[in-house]
Amino acid sequence: MRGVMSVIAASVLMGSAGVMGCATNPVTGQSQLSLVSESQEIEMGRSQVPAVQQSMGFVADPALQSYVSTIGMKMARASERPQLPWEFHVVDDPMVNAFAAPGGFIFVTRGILAVMNSEAELAGVLGHEIAHVTAKHSVAQMSTGLGAQLGVLAAAIISKSDAVAQGAGAVATLFTLKYGRDQETQADQIGHRYALTQRYDVREIPKTFMTLERIGAASGSASGPSFLATHPDPGNRVAKTQAWADTVSSYAGLMTDRDEFLTRINGMLYGADPAEGYFENGRFLHPALRFQFDVPSSWLTVNQKAAVVLGEPNGQAQIQLSGVQQSSPQAAMQAFQQQQGIQMGSAQNISLGGSPGVIAEFTATPQQGQQIRGQVLMVQHAGTVFQFVGYATAQGWGSHGGTVSSVLRSFRPTASNQVFQRARALRVVTLQRATSIATLAQQSGGAIETQALAILNGVDGNVTLPAGRRVKTVGYR
Ligand SMILES: [Zn+2]
Repeated sequence: MRGVMSVIAASVLMGSAGVMGCATNPVTGQSQLSLVSESQEIEMGRSQVPAVQQSMGFVADPALQSYVSTIGMKMARASERPQLPWEFHVVDDPMVNAFAAPGGFIFVTRGILAVMNSEAELAGVLGHEIAHVTAKHSVAQMSTGLGAQLGVLAAAIISKSDAVAQGAGAVATLFTLKYGRDQETQADQIGHRYALTQRYDVREIPKTFMTLERIGAASGSASGPSFLATHPDPGNRVAKTQAWADTVSSYAGLMTDRDEFLTRINGMLYGADPAEGYFENGRFLHPALRFQFDVPSSWLTVNQKAAVVLGEPNGQAQIQLSGVQQSSPQAAMQAFQQQQGIQMGSAQNISLGGSPGVIAEFTATPQQGQQIRGQVLMVQHAGTVFQFVGYATAQGWGSHGGTVSSVLRSFRPTASNQVFQRARALRVVTLQRATSIATLAQQSGGAIETQALAILNGVDGNVTLPAGRRVKTVGYR
C-alpha cells in the first residue's frame, strides 16, 4: 500500500507547493488549469494499480481479464490519448462500480459485469471511464480534494506499520471523491462516441443506466450503487444516452454481442465471497477465521483484502480491522505507540470471548490538519494478531468515541454452531419454456431474490421471459 501513500503525499505536496500550469485538454480542446505533467499523471495512476490489487484483489480469471482488456484497449487506442500506458482490470468486488485512475488505469468490478447483459453495455462503461482519463477529469479530481479528508490525515500520520498503511489505503478508497455532474455528462457523451467508433450498438448504453436506477430504487435509499457514489447521476441520464443513440443514422452492422458477453461471465462468483467475511444483521462474520464483531447501523462498510473498514456516514469517524506482523498483542501495541505523532493513554489487558487482547486510547497530531483521537485494540485470535483501530477528529470523538469503543470490544470468536453463508455463482441458462423472473428466482433455491434477479437480467420484476432466451440466474457453488 505504499502506492496509495505516495499518491496522497504527491497530491498534498502539489496542493501546497503548486506545480501549476495551463495545458490544452486533448478532448475538449479547451485550455485547462493543469497541476501535473503527463508523466506525473501516469505515475499517480500507476501507483494505484497495486493499491487496488491489494485492497480489493483482481478476479483470478485470465480469460475474463483479457476479454475486458481487449474491448477497452481498442477504444483507448482510438481515443485522443492513444499513447498512454492503458490498463484494464476486473476487480474482485461485488459492488456495482467502475473507476479510472489518471494516466489510463481503468477498473471495473465483477459486480458491474454481473448486471450487464451485452458487450456493447460493457463498451459503454469502459468508454465512460476512458473518457474521464482522456478529458483529464481524474487528474483534476486527484489534484484538488484528497488532502482535506480525515482518512488522508490518518494515513499521513499512521504510516510506519505496513498493516496500518494497508488500512489507510482502504480508507482512501472508501472516501474517493466524486466527479462533477458536468464531468459525468461529458464522460457519458465521449463514451458514447468511443463505443460507436468501435461499431458497438450504443442503444445498449441507456440499459446500464436503467439498471443503476433499478438498483437505486431497490436499495430504497440515496446511497444507491457504488457507481453513483463516485459518478453522480447528472439527471435524465437514461433519456440523454437514448437521445444520442437515436441520432445514429443506421444501426446496420453495429454489434451488441450479448451471447459472447454472457458466455464470458457464466460461472463468475456472484455477490460477496463469504469465505472472506461478510456483513449480516449488524455484524461482520469471518467463516475461515471464525471471528465476529458488531457493526453500527447506518455506518458505511467495506470488506477489503487487507482490511475491514467501517465509516461513520458523515465521514467523521472510522474503524479499521487488519492483521499485523507482531506475534503478541503487547508487541503490536508497542509498535503502534512508537509511530511518530502518537501519544498513548494507558493500556489495559482484556479478554474478548476468550481471545486475549490489549486496548488503549490515543491522540495523534498530523503535520497538517486537525488532531485526531482514537482507540486501538490488539487482539490475538486463531494464531493471528489483529489491530482494531477507530478514530475521529478531536471534536468528533465526544459523539463517536463511545460507538468506536463498543465496536472494538464486541470482537469475539463466532459461536461453535454458527451457520455461515455459502458462495454463489452466475449461471447462464437457456429457457426451455416461457418463465417468469419470480419462478426463475424460486428455482434458485434461495440463492437470489426476484428483484435482484430482475436487475441482473435488465428487466422489471414482473416480466416473463420467452422460451429459448439465454438468461442469467444464480446458484450455490
Ligand atoms: Zn463517471
